Amino acid sequence: MSGRVAYARWPGRVFAADFELGSAFQTACNHADNQHRFTFVWVRRAPGTPGPYDALAVSDLKPQKLARVVVPAVDDILGVPFKVLDDGFVRAVDYMGSDESIVQAARVSYGSGTKRVREDRGLIRYLMRHRHTTPFEMCELKLHVRVPMDCWRQWIRHRTANVNEYSTRYSVAIDAAQRTLSTEWRLQASANRQGSEGFLGVDEGDQHSARESELQELAREVYAERLDRGIAREQARKDLPLSTYTEAYWKIDLHNLFHFLSLRMDLHAQAEIRQYATAIGEEIVSKWCPIAWEAFLEYRMGGFYLSAVETSIVRALAQDKAEAARTIAREAGLLPPAGQPVKRNRERAEIESKLRSLGFTVPWDS
Ligand SMILES: Cc1cc2nc3c(=O)[nH]c(=O)nc-3n(C[C@H](O)[C@H](O)[C@H](O)COP(=O)(O)OP(=O)(O)OC[C@H]3O[C@@H](n4cnc5c(N)ncnc54)[C@H](O)[C@@H]3O)c2cc1C
Repeated sequence: MSGRVAYARWPGRVFAADFELGSAFQTACNHADNQHRFTFVWVRRAPGTPGPYDALAVSDLKPQKLARVVVPAVDDILGVPFKVLDDGFVRAVDYMGSDESIVQAARVSYGSGTKRVREDRGLIRYLMRHRHTTPFEMCELKLHVRVPMDCWRQWIRHRTANVNEYSTRYSVAIDAAQRTLSTEWRLQASANRQGSEGFLGVDEGDQHSARESELQELAREVYAERLDRGIAREQARKDLPLSTYTEAYWKIDLHNLFHFLSLRMDLHAQAEIRQYATAIGEEIVSKWCPIAWEAFLEYRMGGFYLSAVETSIVRALAQDKAEAARTIAREAGLLPPAGQPVKRNRERAEIESKLRSLGFTVPWDS
């Protein structure tokens, strides 16, 4: 049979190749450019017919030596513990990727031409704004952390990390418990049932700090007694306080780390875990992926979203239409019908806080 030309398409390119219509059902030929090595496999479109033929192009990267991505600013702090609370720390023990890896991953999806129209910073900020999150997953961070168990209990709820924790079945529990200074006893918040506001006076705080020490020492004593009597570590530990420190290796990708940080650096998070999240963000992530960190602070931490109703209220206020804003709130069930007493409403309180931060007077305040 005579030679024929067939065409194969592989991202954005058309290749032409001669192939011989012989008795072989399929055959293969190779082609290489600067980056890829292609193998075309010609297959019959319909079995049992002489043609037409389609080409399946299979591509491999040409073998090339790649340098490992290094970030000198993180290499300088690998293993360095950043102190948190009285006896806790976070330290980076390993990492993979950098801002550059995010950009590299994104360019696979957008094509190499993107480089000409966007700078790396612009691209990373675009990805962050538009929640194109998978490029951030190309970066991984492994931390060694030392945390009191009450804080760890919140931390471990983040399921997208890989964790290996110190075992108090296998080893004697760490002989350290987090202590609270007499100036640091927080009072229960009145509006937010999960939060705190203000502090106990120092004199009373002194008493609570002293009682805390007694309790921690007694718990440790009882634990040691049990171990001395040969009671299994897995059972002896059960009355240790939640203030006891634990340690873990915690590995997570940058996308999920940003999710963790956005929840745990937030003002609504408990103060203790907030200190850990802030240390991870400010001491480590800011050095590791500075452009992504900057974008995260800008779009995730520094910004907030407006719901449809909130947007309508803001639009009305921007046009100086306070009555229209009140009507929108009333129709959305955020305000009672005119003349009825205003009751507490959590969503309305959140809107009020957003309006104040935008510099508006709350239209139903007066
Ligand atoms: C201020 C605050 C108060 C809280 N109060 C409470 C409380 O009172 N009680 C309580 O139990 N918890 C509470 N939590 C914990 C909270 O509900 C989450 O469990 C925790 O923050 C982990 O969040 P996450 O699941 O988004 O994170 P991750 O587990 O890290 O998951 C990241 C994302 O991956 C996806 N994902 C992960 N696993 C699954 C899955 N199995 N199915 C579907 N999607 C998945 C989700 O999109 C998720 O957002 C509180 C958290 C905060 C920040």
